[in-house]
Amino acid sequence: MSEEMAISQFEPVGDLTEEMEAFRGFLKTRGYRVTKEREAIAESILKNHDHFDVDELFLSLRAKTPVSKASIYRAIPLMIESGLLAEVYLENGHMHYERVYGREHHSHLRCLNCHRIFEFSAPELAQVEKRISRQEGFKSEGHKFEIWGLCSACQAEKR
Ligand SMILES: [Zn+2]
Ligand SMILES: [Zn+2]
Repeated sequence: MSEEMAISQFEPVGDLTEEMEAFRGFLKTRGYRVTKEREAIAESILKNHDHFDVDELFLSLRAKTPVSKASIYRAIPLMIESGLLAEVYLENGHMHYERVYGREHHSHLRCLNCHRIFEFSAPELAQVEKRISRQEGFKSEGHKFEIWGLCSACQAEKR
């Protein structure tokens, strides 16, 4: 798969000023320092159109701003707490993340063969979330829905 294709699947990222301000504001209110390292990690994450794990982020950062994997592991929970990033799925024991700030809620299809991720929105899922929560007396704050299997290209290949 070409680089262009991978990117075209996802929404383009505009100006990052708002996101970066949100992250700095979050760090300050929590009493964390705004360091160059944290900013570099956040910027790289926010520029990412795709779903990624720590190893991928580490490699993409290495060329520009070398940071340790340990710093990335420490920065990720902060970015999740600040509402900029979310855990998406676990693959081979590695959590994959995506930026969520300003993006619409969506779900994922995950191909077990080529490891591509496809995004989709299904408003019915929000209704299921509401109905189940009401039934169980639960105050929900979100839901995750994932379909895994073989994408159409991989099915065609296997035929
Ligand atoms: Zn596939
Ligand atoms: Zn996604």
